Amino acid sequence: MANLLIIGAGGVGRVATFKAAMNEHIFENIVLASKTKSKCDLIAKDIKDRLGIEVKTAEIDAMDVDATAKLIKETNSDIVLNVALPYQDLAIMDACLKAGAHYVDTANYEHPDEAKFEYKLQWAKDEEFKKANLMALLGSGFDPGVTNVFTAYAAQELLDEIEYLDILDCNAGDHGYPFATNFNPEINIREITQKGKFYENGEWKEIEPMSVKFEWEYPGVGKYPSYLLYHEELESLTKNFPSIKRARFFMTFSDKYLWHLRALQNVGMTSIEPIEICDGCKISPMEFLKKVLPDPASLGPRTKGQTHIGVVVTGYKDGTKKRYYIYNICDHQCAFREVGAQCVSYTTGVPAMIGAKMIATKTWFNPGVKNMEEFPAKPFMYALNKHGLPWFIKELPTEGLKIDK
Ligand code: NDP
Repeated sequence: MANLLIIGAGGVGRVATFKAAMNEHIFENIVLASKTKSKCDLIAKDIKDRLGIEVKTAEIDAMDVDATAKLIKETNSDIVLNVALPYQDLAIMDACLKAGAHYVDTANYEHPDEAKFEYKLQWAKDEEFKKANLMALLGSGFDPGVTNVFTAYAAQELLDEIEYLDILDCNAGDHGYPFATNFNPEINIREITQKGKFYENGEWKEIEPMSVKFEWEYPGVGKYPSYLLYHEELESLTKNFPSIKRARFFMTFSDKYLWHLRALQNVGMTSIEPIEICDGCKISPMEFLKKVLPDPASLGPRTKGQTHIGVVVTGYKDGTKKRYYIYNICDHQCAFREVGAQCVSYTTGVPAMIGAKMIATKTWFNPGVKNMEEFPAKPFMYALNKHGLPWFIKELPTEGLKIDK
């Protein structure tokens, strides 16, 4: 049994808190804290009404390390699940070190003033976590997260060595708005407006944003144009599986989404540089845009269709070339009926809870700062089936697919 402090009460925080409450035999006490306490109270009330489980709530500015450490101690929390924003990662890790709690997050650190995300500053805390006999589990969402576990499963159970890795993320859901993002707009738009990047033969190769695309048949969901992007799990996966020759990440976007995004970029609305809009009053266009776009947490009731996220891994087994596709399909309406959130939050919140559960049960435990693929994949894969994200494995031809071109 463990006491869990969840920080962040957006769509992902809602799902993670619901799922933790459904596992009361693992999480004895659950506290949900965020910048706006009323958002935590709404989630806690919904959980009480639907599941009869008590979740305590608190107000916290997680950028304040001392205040967060105090909250961890006051609530006697063993594990902190950070589902706030990537900007808070380092501060929450420091609070965990100060208060003696394990740490789990779903997105790697990003500086608010630089659209650049990397693991460097989080990995640099490895020695401190080791010395404190604490563990920090990084990227326990879907991508990063489950995609790392799928890749590890392929490396541990299906292949002797991985040579090629392609991560494919398709959201075939429709919320009916002309333009909205499925998770935090600022994080989402920053991710897709930066240059694309992939790994090949020991080097990172950059491409112009959204300039490489191909059509992929997502089993059970349909054929969608998929664009090459840089995604954070590529950094840890290429480090932890040095046999990988090429690693890429693709995400689907509709033409409608891209037209809106280009128009917003063309008029400067995606800039993160603050501008003065009245005497002494500064706001970045991106922050303003976030205020006028639909709140991702409000998309749940309107979103229909599915998400499909998976990995295609190619390598050798006993001298024979093999290729496997491991994927999950999640239905927006099913997720909404279960926890009141659409799949993008669901597919992140469920693995976030499972990551905390892996530490609580010591199924995964190794002091230091760790990525998901550094542990045996099987227990996590089992937990995905159990907690609402079943996966499938398909063997694919090793040559002649669109992905080879
Ligand atoms: P939201 O923007 O909906 O929610 C973020 C929450 O964090 C809000 O409740 C916000 O409070 C709170 N918050 C922001 N700043 C602070 C602060 N300084 N102190 C305390 N709380 C704060 O985001 P999502 O729920 O969509 O996403 C949550 C996280 O999940 C993000 O880091 C995102 O990058 C990650 N993610 C990961 C995915 C994966 O597959 N790995 C996929 C999707 C998301 P308030 O509303 O009051 O500002």
